[in-house]
Amino acid sequence: MGKNDFLTPKAIANRIKSKGLQKLRWYCQLCQKQCRDENGFKCHQTSDGHRRQMELFGTNAHRVVEGYSEEFEREFMDHLKRA
Ligand SMILES: [Zn+2]
Repeated sequence: MGKNDFLTPKAIANRIKSKGLQKLRWYCQLCQKQCRDENGFKCHQTSDGHRRQMELFGTNAHRVVEGYSEEFEREFMDHLKRA
């Protein structure tokens, strides 16, 4: 299992399912916000909060992705311990 497998749509969908959330398609990873449908997602994309997150991501993309890697590693090791 490669270190980047957790970024595949399937892996993300599984993580979201485990959190009891809805359709991955309308999920904003940056804000960790679930939208109900396409319209809601479009509205979210134009919201101030989302724009701020996008700016943060733009200035610090590497750090953000690194954070997800660390989160994955933590959860993966935790899963290994229990499995
Ligand atoms: Zn957002």
